This record gives sequence, C-alpha cells and structure tokens, in this order.
Amino acid sequence: MGQAVKSIKGVHDILPQQAHRWHTLERHVMEVMEAYGYSEMRTPILEKSELFKRSIGEVTDIVEKEMYTFEDRNGDLLSLRPENTASCVRAAIQHGLLANNQQSRIWYLGPMFRRENPQAGRYRQFWQVGAEVYGVAGAHIEAELILLSAALWQRTGLTGHVELQVNTLGTAEDRTQYRQLLVEYLTDHRSSLDEDSLRRMETNPLRVLDSKNPALTDIIAAAPKMVDSLCDESREHFEQLQTALQACGVAYTLNPNLVRGLDYYSHTVFEWVTTKLGAQGTVCAGGRYDGLTEQLGAKLTPGVGWALGMERLIALVDELHGAIDVPGPEVFLVLSGDGANTAGLALAEQLRAGDDGFSVVCNCSGGSMKSQFKRADKSAAQVALVLGESELEAGTVAIKPLRGQGEQQTVPQSEIVDTLRVILGRS
Ligand code: ATP
Ligand code: MG
Repeated sequence: MGQAVKSIKGVHDILPQQAHRWHTLERHVMEVMEAYGYSEMRTPILEKSELFKRSIGEVTDIVEKEMYTFEDRNGDLLSLRPENTASCVRAAIQHGLLANNQQSRIWYLGPMFRRENPQAGRYRQFWQVGAEVYGVAGAHIEAELILLSAALWQRTGLTGHVELQVNTLGTAEDRTQYRQLLVEYLTDHRSSLDEDSLRRMETNPLRVLDSKNPALTDIIAAAPKMVDSLCDESREHFEQLQTALQACGVAYTLNPNLVRGLDYYSHTVFEWVTTKLGAQGTVCAGGRYDGLTEQLGAKLTPGVGWALGMERLIALVDELHGAIDVPGPEVFLVLSGDGANTAGLALAEQLRAGDDGFSVVCNCSGGSMKSQFKRADKSAAQVALVLGESELEAGTVAIKPLRGQGEQQTVPQSEIVDTLRVILGRS
C-alpha cells in the first residue's frame, strides 16, 4: 500500500457536515435572486486565457501571477477561471444577450481558481456568488444590486455585521485627469514606495491605492482623491446612488481609496467589509464596468455587478451564529432477518414515495438490534421503525421515537404513515 494521496494546498473538501451550511446559504441566494428577478447563468470553468487577459487586464494580480494556465492540444492557452464576470460577458456576447439594447439580470455560483498564497480566507479554489446586470445605465441599478446584496445579509443574519463602503471611479476622462495628479503625488513619494507600487505606478497607478502593504497606509491616505477629479456628470451619478441608498435605508461609508483590483471598472465601486474575519475582511465587492463589453469585442453596453466569496460568507455566519445542527433523516428502518431485510427496502420505498413522503434511511448492513439502534441514533433520525420476523408475520411494525417524542408502539403497517405524521408533527 502506498502513501495516501492528499488534496493540494489552498483547496478544500466540503464534507457532509458542512454541506448543510452551504445548501442553506445557496437556498437563500436562490430565493433572493428570484425575488429580484435575476436568472442563473452557468458558464464553463475553463476558458481561453485571452479572455481574462483582455478583460481583467495584463497588469493585475490575477493575470500577472494568479491564473492556472496550461496549453491545450491545439496550442491554445487555457485558464481555470479566476473570476466569472469575464465569462458571463463572453457568454452574453456569444449568445446575443446584449443585442438590441436588451437588458439582462443574471446571477451565478461556482468555484474560481487563483494561485494565491493560501491563508485563512484566501484559497486557491474558492466559491463565488455573483450578480450581473447588462444594458442598464445609471445609478439606480447599482443601488438595486447593493440592495440585493443587503437582502442576502438580512436572510443570513449578517445585517449590521458587514459595512458598505462606496466610491466612484468616474468616467475614463476623469480617471485620466486623476491618474496624472496621482502619479505626480506618487513620484514625490517615490522613495517610500515598495517595489510593487513602483511598478503599478508605471502601469496602472490607481492600483497603488489598492496596496495591502501596511507601510503605505499613510501615503495612500494623503494621496489626492478621485472624488475631487469628477466631472459634473460623474458627480451627479454618484450623488444619485447615495440618494437612492439613503431612501432605501442602506447605511454606507465613503471610502475614497476604494479601487477595485480589476481594470474594467468605472463610476460606482463598492465593497461589503467586516472586521470579524481578520485580514481578509472583504466579503463582497463590485461595481460598474461599462467598458468591458467593448474590451471583449462587442459594442459598448452598460454592465454592473458584484461577487461575494462563499467561504468568507460562511466563516462570518459561523463566527456570528455558531455551528448548526445537521438534520438527520426522519426515519431509520431497523431490520432483522432475511425476509425483513427485503421487505424493509420495499417499505422504505413506500414511505419515501409521494409529494410529502418521509426521508428514510434503511439499514442495509445487518447487525444486532443494539448496533442498528446505535446507527439510528448516530444518523440523527427522529424515529426508528423496527421490522423483524414477528412484525413481518403479523403485518405490523414497531415505532420508537428516538428524540423523546413518546413511547414505543406497535401498529399495523396500514397505519404507519398516520402514526409517523403525528409523531413527526406533520399536519
Ligand atoms: P482581495 O483584494 O482580497 O484579493 P479581490 O479584489 O481579489 O480581493 P474579487 O476578485 O473582487 O477579490 O473577489 C470578490 C470576492 O471573492 C472577495 O471579496 C472575496 O470575498 C472573494 N475572494 C476573492 N479571492 C478569494 C480567495 N483567494 N479565496 C477566497 N475568497 C476570495
Ligand atoms: Mg485578490
């Protein structure tokens, strides 16, 4: 026997115990998306590397160093998707969802891959939920997307534990003007910048503001602010957003240093942050990316969206609300004797059938009554049904509540369903 093979660094198994938490959150996501009229889109995990290079930008952490890229048989470079906005826009263009000024509201859920330095809250495979809207300009749709995320916090008990930060990146012209001011300022402080920032200063200076190096905090805090370089239209756009948020009772703070790591954003950018997850405090991030469709070869179409990290969401829910009990099946079927083993499978089928059938685990592996009851208990079932040779002969079954809902009783098989309903508190 060789050594056991383990998973690679920075990726995680989701075990049955945790899957329940995921399902609960995924259900919340689906229900909230439905309430807002968003439809799901599933795109491949694998795309041409070029898609991400053209959309995310060559000079970003993701494209510079975080993509898993390999050569296909025909020589194409392929990458595991590091995020899903680019793929969604690609699919929307490819399938005509942007044609004739159509509007689409879509959402997605799935794994993303980045060659990160693994640490708490930062993984190499992680899951994102995202919402994207195409074809709608203006600040109100941005407010809707923020409200949609706030509705998720409401559902998951996180309201008040995540803070909304907003900023604007204005128009491309605003940014050109601002970039100049920023570069002048950074040049004056060149000697205090780190290597990464010096490089970014040349290629994509706004991203210096996104630096995670604590030594640069003061320099970044004192840098010129984007909000001071806005044209009237951009200022109005940003004010409209804030008015809408206020009207809907969503609290926010202005963070003038908030720039997104990706190149394609304009106007509104926002993040939901928490102080409860240590260094990886951004749970959800998004903004407007009108330029992306053009960058990917279609006509300019408004786009806006956000993505949230499921692992961070789950960590926060766990941190605030503790672990949850995983519900077991309703019924565990204890069987004794050859005849009962076979009859039990059929009985379990009967109980599961129908719209409001029961969830039933059938003992399929023999064993003494004692060991089967241990299994039943471990399964967290509510009720054990016992079918042995004598019950089989008499056409009865013994019903034993396992969680203190009354005494064991023996009933004719025709009455099992009604008896179970009473014990399980079903109407
Ligand atoms: P950061 O600045 O933390 O690197 P980012 O700008 O790379 O974040 P986005 O690409 O905006 O992050 O992703 C949106 C969300 O996805 C993040 O706010 C976070 O919740 C989650 N996320 C991003 N990268 C990771 C990762 N490596 N592991 C786990 N979750 C992640
Ligand atoms: Mg990152």
